[in-house]
Amino acid sequence: MPTDWVRLETRIFWYLFAALFLAVATWETLAPRAAPTQRTGRRWGVNAWLLLISSIFSVTILRFSPVGVALAVSGRSGPTVQQLPPAAGFLLTLLALDAWAWCGHRFLHATRWGWRIHQVHHSDMDYDVTTGSRFHPLESIFLKSGQLAVVFLLGPAPLAVLAAEMIGLVANFFEHANARLPVALAHALRMVIVTPEIHRIHHSLHRDEQQKNYGQIFPLWDHLAGTFQSESSAGPAGPVGVASIGRHLGWGEALLLPFQRGRQQLAATSAAGSAESAGHRKSS
Ligand SMILES: [Zn+2]
Repeated sequence: MPTDWVRLETRIFWYLFAALFLAVATWETLAPRAAPTQRTGRRWGVNAWLLLISSIFSVTILRFSPVGVALAVSGRSGPTVQQLPPAAGFLLTLLALDAWAWCGHRFLHATRWGWRIHQVHHSDMDYDVTTGSRFHPLESIFLKSGQLAVVFLLGPAPLAVLAAEMIGLVANFFEHANARLPVALAHALRMVIVTPEIHRIHHSLHRDEQQKNYGQIFPLWDHLAGTFQSESSAGPAGPVGVASIGRHLGWGEALLLPFQRGRQQLAATSAAGSAESAGHRKSS
């Protein structure tokens, strides 16, 4: 039954979400990378509110889930990935959804309105298990719309979509961990998947490093686009955030951020980031 599939998707998502949160929070406690710059409880509260509001907006405005779209288009005429062997269909679905995540993320950085929205995610001045849940509702709707479109176009099996969705969730928690991996393991893993070390570079305070490592699951897309960077010029525990904001935001301020920052301020952001990056390059 379609409803059962969607109910299963929701249930697995939130059970996995809770398990991943506990696992990554434990890992961060045992092998932390960088010390927090503010009270963790307050920041976690802000990120929890943004997660709640984004989830409500996303479910209210986009009624379909990715698995729901797969069910809706199953059995349609014409070529779909369901006609491939199941393993090939799953792999193609996973790669297509990850390619969309890269393209959508790149778009959010490359456009004025995209950055206004996406800087809510980057404005987190610490980097940990909750950063991956800190998004403006408009970003959640934008990225989910693209996911639904990919599923609609490919017509994959609901199970393939469910598995790809959960792998994306695992990747999101893993790459936002403020935790250390053994060096040899980190170097081996970063060849095939996005690691915390790699994604942290993307959250760097330095604007040129924010234009690197857009990948969600696979670094493949960054290698192809020439945007892969393996080491941060600020070191493995360098500062994160948005230089022009430079302070911790409340959840209400974060929600209003895209609508409050005018052209001049955005231009100032760019100039500040470039100047800071140039200064940093000089000193390093
Ligand atoms: Zn980004």
